[in-house]
Amino acid sequence: MDERFPAALQQMLSDRLSFYEDIGIRLFYRDRAATSLAPSTAANRASLQVHPEETPLPKTTPTAAVQKAALMAASPLRKIDILPMPSGPSLFESVEKIADDSLLKIRTDLGECTRCKLHKGRHTIVFGDGNPKAQLVFVGEGPGHDEDIQGLPFVGRAGKLLTQMIEAMGLQRKDVYICNVVKCRPPENRTPEEDEVSTCSPFLLRQIDVIAPKVIVCLGAVAAKTLLQTNRGISQFRGEWLEFRGRKLLATYHPAYLLRNPNAKGEVWKDLQKVMAVLGLQVKKGKSA
Ligand code: SF4
Repeated sequence: MDERFPAALQQMLSDRLSFYEDIGIRLFYRDRAATSLAPSTAANRASLQVHPEETPLPKTTPTAAVQKAALMAASPLRKIDILPMPSGPSLFESVEKIADDSLLKIRTDLGECTRCKLHKGRHTIVFGDGNPKAQLVFVGEGPGHDEDIQGLPFVGRAGKLLTQMIEAMGLQRKDVYICNVVKCRPPENRTPEEDEVSTCSPFLLRQIDVIAPKVIVCLGAVAAKTLLQTNRGISQFRGEWLEFRGRKLLATYHPAYLLRNPNAKGEVWKDLQKVMAVLGLQVKKGKSA
């Protein structure tokens, strides 16, 4: 224990650092603008006191800025505009990949997660499913009712359509990896909120790093916006090859959208054919999703 700091503050920092470790942030740099915060004076020490009436920092929830830094450190090379980043020095100047990371370790780190409010209504955490060494990863938005019950991604009506699409590509579900931006079902299948996405998505980044696919296909706007950190509508870059952490990324419509708009299936099939070309898969005559 460092007696210069109150025990409550040390515990708070320890909890926060544990969370950063879970999401792969291992290197920390002192903010250049914050050097004067060194606790060298009584006034500074006083400013570091945690008062009992203060609400402590959430045990495992990072700030949106830190999460955004983690996502932006992914450095997606893109053809689209990204959200503006805060200027000036950052507390985190590097996000390291975890050298010996694995899907099992990520799942263990996730645990019986209560990091965001989505845990309150979930039945099961839907971590992801498929080939841990897949060349192709599909990223959706979040679990729905069937997924929440079964603990598997894309097993409802939209999931059946995704399975058909995968099979039309000449693959099976066990050949690819399927996961979501958030791992707990949002109530009433609503769109995940920003704080939920920012809290859960670092685990998705770790999954992608570990699987190291050749191609990532984002299914729908939430997945695309999360990985690319863009506020543009998906229709502005759907079907374009983008790059994410040195990997090819393509965004297309979510199967649930196709259930409501079957006319868009042709567009999606064209997108998937681009993926097939990169993966060296043959288009079978007469096949379409
Ligand atoms: S959605 Fe993700 S961060 Fe939120 S409780 Fe579920 S696993 Fe945890």
